Amino acid sequence: MIKEAQIRESYEVEQVRREFPILRREVKGKPLIYFDNAATTQKPQQVIDALTGYYTGYNANIHRGIHTLAEEATAAFENTRDAVQRFIGADSREEIIFTRGTTEGINLVAYTWGRQNIKAGDEIIISAMEHHSNIVPWQVLCEEKGAKLKVIPVNEKGELLFEEYIKLLGPRTKMVSVVHASNALGTINPVRQIIDAAHKAGAVTLIDGAQSTAHLDINVRDLDCDFFALSAHKLYGPTGTGVLYGKKELLEAMPVFQGGGEMIKEVSFEKTTYNQLPYKYEAGTPNIADTIAFKAALDFIYRIGKEQIRRHEEDLLGYATAQLRAIRGLKIIGEAAEKTSVISFVVDNAHPQDLGILLDNQGIAVRTGHHCTQPLMDFFCIPGTTRASFAAYNTRAEIDELAAGLQKAIKLLS
Ligand code: PLP
Repeated sequence: MIKEAQIRESYEVEQVRREFPILRREVKGKPLIYFDNAATTQKPQQVIDALTGYYTGYNANIHRGIHTLAEEATAAFENTRDAVQRFIGADSREEIIFTRGTTEGINLVAYTWGRQNIKAGDEIIISAMEHHSNIVPWQVLCEEKGAKLKVIPVNEKGELLFEEYIKLLGPRTKMVSVVHASNALGTINPVRQIIDAAHKAGAVTLIDGAQSTAHLDINVRDLDCDFFALSAHKLYGPTGTGVLYGKKELLEAMPVFQGGGEMIKEVSFEKTTYNQLPYKYEAGTPNIADTIAFKAALDFIYRIGKEQIRRHEEDLLGYATAQLRAIRGLKIIGEAAEKTSVISFVVDNAHPQDLGILLDNQGIAVRTGHHCTQPLMDFFCIPGTTRASFAAYNTRAEIDELAAGLQKAIKLLS
């Protein structure tokens, strides 16, 4: 495997940083420290070059053209499909559907598979730590069909209560849709076991991989999930493109999502027949440039080494956890045994938004608020948190700056 072969002995973070032009900029007169990676990662030069390369070299619409530019653009676009297939270990390229991102992937399943398979009285299971993108589409479906949404509870550490999940499963369970890694807490869920139990109960499974794909090795075949949704922009790729993986037999049986160009075989006013997979779910001109550049992001990850990035992020998480725990009045929200590189916290007598503004004044970008997980914030009885999330280019020195910046902010707010 390329991935294994390319793991380097030591991690040269300064070398990685040089690949990200944005890290050279200043914010409020200070060098940018970017800790909002769970919202979106920064983009390496390779991705930016792929974007400009397409627009300056071979911009054309794909699939139907016979001229050179159209053929080059189609080949580059379809190369990304092959790269994603390898990246997530899918059986075939037909199982890789390009979407706008995780949100659209989940909506696609709710609108197609959901409308075909969910009836009154059926049950859909999600968890208490879902992003709104993995709550609302199922809520809408349940309302329309008279089905019921059931929620796996979490404990104070922000871990799913597996025994409670098993109790929720039953003959009426038709879908289990859970997040692989929580964007708000970092918790990594035991999705393999969740999927196994769902399958034993006869349910179909969807994994929200928005936060896991950048940090964990994903193999959809090993996971045996039925659907897996991801966003390119969370793994060093462009915004506005992502993937829905689905098992071929399910994708073939599902009704179409959007109608339009590309997803048809033949159209007449009497009857339209649909294109084969994966094009059946790709109506209209797709986001060609960003999808092409998505492959450059995957190439970047392979070149640096996913295992190397993971180890680096683990080191940053451990270091930051120790640093932040030492700050008086600061409480970390989400202390699961298995976490991605996300630290959410609250500080006594300091509103997360005020902390965020004071950190921004020091050039430090963090996210504040409910992180699109309002029910989870309700569980912790807080309006929101301040969240620092780390990526391949972050350093321990930046975490020192965060800790010092927080001390300064807390003093100003007290
Ligand atoms: N699910 C999780 C866990 C997320 O963190 C996000 C984005 O933050 C999403 C879904 C939605 O992703 P997107 O906005 O790229 O569709």
